[in-house]
Amino acid sequence: MQSNQLEKIVTPLLAWYHESSRSLPWRENKDPYRIWVSEIMLQQTRVEAVIPYFTRFIERCPDIASLAACEDEELLKLWEGLGYYSRARNLKKAAQTICEVHQGRFPEEYDEILKLPGIGAYTAGAISSIAFEKATPAVDGNVLRVITRLTENNQDIMETKFRKQMTMELEKIYPPKERGDFTQSLMELGAVVCVPNGAPKCEECPVNSLCSAYRNHTQLQYPVKKKKAVRRVEEKTILFLKHQNKIALCRRDKKGILSGMWEFPNMDGTMTEAQIAEWLAAKRFTVTELNKPAHEKNQLKHIFTHIEWHMTYWIAECEAVEQSDSFTWVTQEQLESETALPTAFKKVYETALKESDILFTMENAACSEEIL
Ligand code: SF4
Repeated sequence: MQSNQLEKIVTPLLAWYHESSRSLPWRENKDPYRIWVSEIMLQQTRVEAVIPYFTRFIERCPDIASLAACEDEELLKLWEGLGYYSRARNLKKAAQTICEVHQGRFPEEYDEILKLPGIGAYTAGAISSIAFEKATPAVDGNVLRVITRLTENNQDIMETKFRKQMTMELEKIYPPKERGDFTQSLMELGAVVCVPNGAPKCEECPVNSLCSAYRNHTQLQYPVKKKKAVRRVEEKTILFLKHQNKIALCRRDKKGILSGMWEFPNMDGTMTEAQIAEWLAAKRFTVTELNKPAHEKNQLKHIFTHIEWHMTYWIAECEAVEQSDSFTWVTQEQLESETALPTAFKKVYETALKESDILFTMENAACSEEIL
């Protein structure tokens, strides 16, 4: 990549950013805490979707100390719907580290920021340039798209080596002032003009006169990406176990996907009615009814980065249950207001709920507190 070709973008890009950047809640000031939380939320999630989560999160945890002290269950509830719950756990761990190691002040240096749990090169670059005006580029997919189009660079953007090289090249063109704005201008251009899906809006682009791909009509050939590995499909059978207007939850393993989160009891594979009955009997549940909702709505899909769950759910009414540490029984109200349920299971729950009376009503739920 040619730095001398790129350095010409700085002035027009900054001018454009000052004039037309979007007003976003984490841009109200240069507080590193707010910038950090927003960057973590924005990983894998669109800006519009993040705004209400960000606002709610900052209301509850307005600073590093309050995040460090936030109870896990409440934190996960605040995060519910954003997915990738390890991001929330790492936020809290990093906040605790900042309190212990940095006396509660967010570290300014890139290398120190990079040491914090859950913070990679992109996020460290973003925080240190936006909050502390350092010349530390934040190179993500948006920025890579912009730069490879500007320079018609056909290297594979999935290669770590290429990303590092790109970071070094960008470092060379960082302006002496307004470094944070320059980082944000590149991000902004990638998000709203040099867009990822469909044609870029080159006519509106402040650097189109400097863009090789625009000049040669090759915009859609960049960035070059190796094909993604195919996702592994996993079949799951999910059970709603009801007993006296409560429903069973259990904890996932501490290792692996959604580690330590709540889930509905489930089995790997697509089980038959007989297999489910056998599983329930082995757990000493006396079941009066076992129903698979009649139509195809009991089959749902949830996509993680590398895995796809194909889920089938069943509803079992239990007359008697063996008290066991493996299961926690909750009311509908507790499930909805206090329990951080991963999106995969929430999807199943909401679909099942639409099937009218298959779950329980809150009035009924109030009669059976003795189970907990
Ligand atoms: Fe992207 Fe078009 Fe601007 Fe080039 S001119 S950087 S392709 S939006």
